[in-house]
Amino acid sequence: MPESRLCLSLTGKTLRSNLDCISKYRKKIDMVELRADFLKPSELGSIQRFPGKCDLPVIFTVRLHRDGGYFSGKEKDRRKLLSEAAGSGYSYIDIEEDLVDRELEHHIRKNGARIIRSIHDFSGVPGNLAGRIRNLSHNPADIPKAAVMPQNTLELLRLIEIFQDLETSQKILIGMGELGLLTRVLAPKLGSWLSYCSSPEKEAAPGHLDPDQLIDLYRFKSIDASTQIFGVIGNPIRHSLSPQIHNYGYKVLGINAVYLPLLVEDLESFFRLADILRIKGLSVTLPLKESVISHLAEQDERLGSIGACNTLVRKASGWYGTNTDVDGFLKPLKTMCLNKELTDRPQAGEFGPGPRLKATVIGAGGAARSVVYALNQCGIKPLILNRTTERAESLARRFGCPYSGIDAQGYALIEEYSDLIVQSTSVGMEPQAGGDPLPDYRFKGTELVYDLVYKPHLTRFLQRAQDAGCRIIPGLEMLKSQAEAQFKLFTGREYPIYSVSRYNN
Ligand code: NAP
Repeated sequence: MPESRLCLSLTGKTLRSNLDCISKYRKKIDMVELRADFLKPSELGSIQRFPGKCDLPVIFTVRLHRDGGYFSGKEKDRRKLLSEAAGSGYSYIDIEEDLVDRELEHHIRKNGARIIRSIHDFSGVPGNLAGRIRNLSHNPADIPKAAVMPQNTLELLRLIEIFQDLETSQKILIGMGELGLLTRVLAPKLGSWLSYCSSPEKEAAPGHLDPDQLIDLYRFKSIDASTQIFGVIGNPIRHSLSPQIHNYGYKVLGINAVYLPLLVEDLESFFRLADILRIKGLSVTLPLKESVISHLAEQDERLGSIGACNTLVRKASGWYGTNTDVDGFLKPLKTMCLNKELTDRPQAGEFGPGPRLKATVIGAGGAARSVVYALNQCGIKPLILNRTTERAESLARRFGCPYSGIDAQGYALIEEYSDLIVQSTSVGMEPQAGGDPLPDYRFKGTELVYDLVYKPHLTRFLQRAQDAGCRIIPGLEMLKSQAEAQFKLFTGREYPIYSVSRYNN
């Protein structure tokens, strides 16, 4: 058995469908949990035969509504089910903290099963959690378990501190919800006896990953005490493709590292957490690119001019901040020019001889700062259009560019600055795909249109541009090139370019 097991929670309504689910993931999992509360009542009479049909250790659980389950029968029926399971070959019986029944416990142990003693809290990380976990086990063979849902980064930090302080050798500690993702992936490193997962069709608890994600994307089976941790911080973060890019690189190059999406709403607590976990490097996305700067010990000299930081690398002195968005943005643009795809239109400074490219940047947030800085480096002073005119003005003043709000004046000005249009707002990004930052602009077909949004691959804005005959650059191109630069900073190794298309599948 590995140090930390991967346990598939079975959420089917029938025992047959649960057996099918086991077959599907058999190679990836170490044990299963039969959640009797998900079963149709008519199936409960057959639970005794279930362990004999599985070639894996099985946990038996009957979860009540208040603990996040679906069992609505009488208390005596729940105890009866637990008691029946104990004599039927289940290896573990999960009993909640408040179910104190010495006779039942004795019966379970006498039948050779072990007790998992569990606490569930969906409202947060309770203040006295460490003490409650210590008091959970009534017998040295019992395994204490706490599944709690951190409501913010500070609570996640407290949960990780409890992980570190608990001397119990066998324990199951889980942070539920999106904030708790790292506890599920890092279970082997943090010392949790198991990590639960469930089928994507029906998750057993909030924040469950499925076995494919845990094994193929995060390489759960290779995580150990020496695995280096990297990640991307932001809010929201669920949509990020960066874990696919970075983890694929580690896999191909055989690097013992994992890269996680980390939801962060409080940087102060997060950096304390990052110190405890010794996180080595971080990508930074919206809305944190500006606010991380005050936490840096050292920074790339360009950061002062850009005012946005998308990369943090841990150094002896603290966090070193830099920005790979600038080069990441320019690379696909340069590639297009080098490929002579722009031969029929004016080219700018660095892109070749000829008159200056006239460009528009829509947006004035963190990404726009990098784009305007990059274009400025190429001798281009783009028109900056933004919903909030004051933000457009402030960015424009920094680089000496024209600016406007997205209004009649903005629409009139863009006609003059339309060789290249860069869309750098979050409009059109999932889950609000379909939004259009410039709905009244009619493409002529001569513009080169670059949208930084990478999910969906083709935004409504890019689709309109393409339909009008424009050349387009989807945001994934920039995402890839800025991530490859980060990969080099994080690992000291070149990203394995030959396999770059794989992570996009
Ligand atoms: P940010 O700092 O939060 O800025 C958001 C920008 O979007 C601001 O200009 C904001 O205008 C504008 N905006 C937001 N909602 C709007 C709405 N409903 N209507 C009009 N404008 C709206 O975010 P960011 O870091 O610049 O990121 C922006 C986008 O670029 C995100 O989708 C991000 O994923 C993408 N990005 C992609 C890459 C890549 O590698 N492809 C790299 C970086 C960023 P106001 O000032 O008026 O609020």
